[in-house]
Amino acid sequence: MGGLTAAWRLSEPGWRDRFERITVYQRGWRLGGKGASSRGRHGRIQEHGLHVWLGFYENAFRVLRECYEELDRPRSDPRAPILTWRDAVRPASAVGLEDRERGDWRHWLARFAPNDLEPGDPGDDERPAGLAEFALRALRLIIDGVESLADVGRIDPTGRVVLSTSAETPARTVVDSLALGTQLAVPAALLEATRLARLELDGGHSQFGDPIAGIADPELLGALDRIQDRLGGIVAEDPDLRRTWQYMSLTVALLRGLVADGVFAGVPLARLDDEDYLSWIRRHGGPPEAVDGALLRALYDMTFAYVDGDTSRPRFGAGSAVLLAVKMALEYKGGIFWKMCAGMGDVVFAPLYQALRHRGVDFEFFHRVDALHLSPDRTAIDAISVGRQARLAPGLERYEPLVRVRGLPCFPDAPVVAQLADAHGIQDQPLESHGCTWPDAERRTLRRGADFDVAVLAIPVGMAGIVCGELIDDRPEWRDMVDNVATVATQAFQIWLREPEPALGWPHPGVTMSGYTDPFDTWASMPQLIDAEDWPDDDRPAAIAYFCGVLPAGRAVAVAGDRDRHQELVREGAKAFLDQNLRHLLPGAVNGGGFRWELLCGANGLSGPAALDSQFWTANVDPSDRYVQSLPGTGRYRLRSDESGYDNLFLAGDWTDSGLNAGCIEAAVLSGLQAANAVLGRARNHRVAGYLPD
Ligand SMILES: Cc1cc2nc3c(=O)[nH]c(=O)nc-3n(C[C@H](O)[C@H](O)[C@H](O)COP(=O)(O)OP(=O)(O)OC[C@H]3O[C@@H](n4cnc5c(N)ncnc54)[C@H](O)[C@@H]3O)c2cc1C
Repeated sequence: MGGLTAAWRLSEPGWRDRFERITVYQRGWRLGGKGASSRGRHGRIQEHGLHVWLGFYENAFRVLRECYEELDRPRSDPRAPILTWRDAVRPASAVGLEDRERGDWRHWLARFAPNDLEPGDPGDDERPAGLAEFALRALRLIIDGVESLADVGRIDPTGRVVLSTSAETPARTVVDSLALGTQLAVPAALLEATRLARLELDGGHSQFGDPIAGIADPELLGALDRIQDRLGGIVAEDPDLRRTWQYMSLTVALLRGLVADGVFAGVPLARLDDEDYLSWIRRHGGPPEAVDGALLRALYDMTFAYVDGDTSRPRFGAGSAVLLAVKMALEYKGGIFWKMCAGMGDVVFAPLYQALRHRGVDFEFFHRVDALHLSPDRTAIDAISVGRQARLAPGLERYEPLVRVRGLPCFPDAPVVAQLADAHGIQDQPLESHGCTWPDAERRTLRRGADFDVAVLAIPVGMAGIVCGELIDDRPEWRDMVDNVATVATQAFQIWLREPEPALGWPHPGVTMSGYTDPFDTWASMPQLIDAEDWPDDDRPAAIAYFCGVLPAGRAVAVAGDRDRHQELVREGAKAFLDQNLRHLLPGAVNGGGFRWELLCGANGLSGPAALDSQFWTANVDPSDRYVQSLPGTGRYRLRSDESGYDNLFLAGDWTDSGLNAGCIEAAVLSGLQAANAVLGRARNHRVAGYLPD
């Protein structure tokens, strides 16, 4: 995503005045890296793992919207079932957590109130004022809720917790449900906190004149503490109230932490990164049951924040975690999550490919970068060694990577062999893997001046250790980066089920749940994909389920055979999970003997546990596929897009220091934009949207 974003920004109209050509070199047959997906049998979407976009991905949505705008499919490709960005993604407000109570798992369903905003509005370059603005929003959320305690009549009859984080006062708020349980007169502490906070929120009327000073007011924080203390006792016996209280108390601890650590007084958020977020929030008064509870576990699950995939070692730099949590909960537009209506390869990378091609950008598929070489004076990249994995069939000028599934341009799950020369058997090769042993058709050396002037390295940090050996030997910053910026292997599997979720005991199709048990702590219900796939009528799924988690695969670079070994482990893990752990999520999919294997679509004659072989699973162990983490104490080793140390080399990807140092699509996009800005000689955050710390 980082590389394609850089290409997108660099190839804006008029680009030929600056550059002779722009070429994307891509290993294998498809684009997308960790976000790549392709289509298998029956047009099945096969992903690296669950991918959702968050409503705060202002820059990623903007690129997506610009891309669809330019493609203009209603005119250029009216047969395609996804014509606009609004067809491609949809807000998903229902989220869930799995909570452990006295040894039993319990569902915690919440809905983050949707709003009418749309992420990525073109031209909306106004950057939010800063963390202080978010702090006020968080405070407002608490206060609105506190005030609503007096109004028991507005309680959601389902008793569900409704979270809202928009700047506007929501119809129902997170603490409405507190009233349900307390049935008490509003405690004095709540009124006191409300009064104080209102003063701050009223800004100009604040006794401090400055709302930030107000947040730091010990009187207010003390009043919020007293709310917690009183409610803590009241809510102990009621799961809904207890969860609501946890949410509030974590928010209060976060505010207190930012005040105590001087962030509102100008201390950079990144300074907090040396400490793990859990220990930081605990140190600032987060109650143990909230710190150890589902909310924060889900944040760690979502970001695969476990050292070496060991779930007993959660670690996430506090500064990066605060930024992500705050943006996620308080900056979203439309919905907190946005889900894709087909694979990420189909709705993001294929359109980007088409639009970039249309702009005149060249693509060289089957080109694996092996090494970057320095100039004799070690100030620039002089040459790039490339292994060409396949040649084009005679008469072809370029590889066409897309096929249509029900009219939608998609990447297939293997190269289109008919377009390649001497490629018999290539479709079974792991061309995207460092351990691939398929012999190269050709060795190429790209030379500065002849083949390139400027290079954007969009190969992830896990792989940089392999292709950037000369740079690592030359500059300690490179050595520090590859040694310290950690990555983790992940695993995922997908199943296609004959019966709809309500029939299987789950009444809320479409939910994304996190915080569940190892090894697949995250589950997403994906019924919106059924119509995007191409199943025969007599074998059509009524439900699709994605599962995902970290994979404890160690740090050694994967070699040939490693992937196969881990694939087998994931398969075994998936089988055990379906037999032993699925009951809690989809009770009807399990009987006395374990998982009902006959539920699987596409089994192709296989029965019993063997039917699992017909579904999809993946072990993401390749250095390039490993998820980039934000472990405490590592942020300082990231290089910025313009900090390669070499005149003609720029960096793009979620592993750089983009200001949002968390492994996600928005970080990759930010980094790609910053790389393009650097190439063009513009300021780092020129035309970058959304809040970023300075
Ligand atoms: C299982 C999983 C689930 C995730 N879920 C989410 C989610 O829900 N939401 C979210 O926002 N983010 C999610 N992420 C993170 C997201 O996928 C990444 O942040 C994003 O893809 C990073 O983009 P990138 O451009 O930095 O790197 P990559 O996506 O890894 O792209 C790197 C590119 O470099 C290419 N490459 C590597 N080596 C070579 C070589 N030697 N020669 C040529 N090309 C090479 C790769 O093929 C790829 O095209 C998830 C990640 C994983 C692993």
